Amino acid sequence: MPNTKDKRFNIAMYMKERKEARFKAVLNHRSLALEHKKSERIQAKIVKAKEKTAALTSDLENNMPFRTATKRRRETMTAKRCKMKDLTNYVLGCKRSKRNVQELPNDMKMLAMLAGELVISSKYFSPFANVCKDDATDLQASFGPEPGHKWQPWEYKQRVNVVGKVESFKKKIEKKPLSCKVKRTKVTEFIASQKSRQEFLPLLDKYIDQAHVEPLHLKNNAWQYFFKGVLKEAIRKSKLPVSCKTFSEVPEESVFGRLISSLKMHVKAGCLCKKVKRWFDDTQGSGPDLQYRFTGKESRRFCHNYMSLVNALSDDNDTKADRQAILVFAYLGQRLRDSVSLINRFDIKEEQLAQLTLAAQEYLRVNAMFLSTSVNPTVWTLGHIVPVHAQQVFSQYNKGLAIVTMEGREAKHIFLKKLSQNTTYQRRWLEIFKHEYIMLVWLPEHGYELPGNKSHNEAYIPPRIFENPSYCYCGLLKTNPSDAKCSICGDPLMRLIEKSVTEGKIDSGLKL
Ligand SMILES: [Zn+2]
Repeated sequence: MPNTKDKRFNIAMYMKERKEARFKAVLNHRSLALEHKKSERIQAKIVKAKEKTAALTSDLENNMPFRTATKRRRETMTAKRCKMKDLTNYVLGCKRSKRNVQELPNDMKMLAMLAGELVISSKYFSPFANVCKDDATDLQASFGPEPGHKWQPWEYKQRVNVVGKVESFKKKIEKKPLSCKVKRTKVTEFIASQKSRQEFLPLLDKYIDQAHVEPLHLKNNAWQYFFKGVLKEAIRKSKLPVSCKTFSEVPEESVFGRLISSLKMHVKAGCLCKKVKRWFDDTQGSGPDLQYRFTGKESRRFCHNYMSLVNALSDDNDTKADRQAILVFAYLGQRLRDSVSLINRFDIKEEQLAQLTLAAQEYLRVNAMFLSTSVNPTVWTLGHIVPVHAQQVFSQYNKGLAIVTMEGREAKHIFLKKLSQNTTYQRRWLEIFKHEYIMLVWLPEHGYELPGNKSHNEAYIPPRIFENPSYCYCGLLKTNPSDAKCSICGDPLMRLIEKSVTEGKIDSGLKL
């Protein structure tokens, strides 16, 4: 039989069809796997709900009073407060330690508890100043201990005064026939009406006034807030069809698709990436916001490569308003990165403090003026508290704000827990401290160096921008190494944004 072209086995066609069939199968499998994961998560939720119902039913059967989630949370808080009271009494009872209490390196949540205050989400949200949610966006006001400032630090006398009033108010409403929830709301409303956030006497007495803002949580929260804004903008611009139910259906070339691949490839935040995909599968980008707590590592990575995310937002069909939104994020990211770099230093100079004040102020203003999310407690604290506290710490110790950081504390706790595995119950702490002494002091003294933490000395501003002239100050590659700035920072609209922020008034050339 002649081997004609028609009858010959077409290997190219076969390979192409096989590739297509395989691709289809992979896609099918991926969406099935996602569905499976989703159903697993729902099942886990059902199991949890069943456990909760069982606990409540057993409480009812044993004639225990019904406890709502709020009540349970309050009981836990009371128990925690009692525990902390014992601990602080013990520490302050020791004369030597009492004399030496100079700093309280704690995050704001913990400081609020030590100060006997309401939670951070209350109307007067700051443990450091008498600022209220309604006037936080006031760009003319400032914070400081001097009388000319609108926002002042809390006074101890005033704290005690309010506690007295709150106690008598609680007694007054105790006997009224109201539910626990309503009573609680009335108490918090009463505290807010006193222009305060004080509920109990501070566990640390007057030492609470020595607290300074802690940079670790602040920087993580600020980057988390930045990412939320970028993510919202990406989803808005992508205009995904309603049929797009899972992340696997999101087109790779869409703004959202590019943002996530940039998050993975450039920022290298794999964990956050997975979380965003899962969040999209559950909510399709609408509904509740993404809940994710940034770690110190992720914040550092954002400091180095936030511009690749901002760049992923650009599209060929961008309108002027779209372009303006991108430039605002670029401006915001640079001020945040510079502030983070300056608040995380042990050694700092006077002129760097001035740079920090300027960067923090610009960060606050751009949030208040251009972003719909506006000013939240993190933004306000970074903009107003940080420069003042950095100055106080500098005049007190001649050092930067990093001396009150909690960076590495969680790693230390994990390390101590590991050491506790080889101890006996009775002598646990003694053995842990002995072990720690040998590892941290004795071994290095005898020439055995422990492997150091690589990220410890890494800078927040990437060194490439100082070493390589091809990079712009923001961290992005310039179109041409001889250019002063990259295509985003050099945009004419950027100058208008800078002008608006400096003047505190949106320029007529920009859109509201
Ligand atoms: Zn740039």
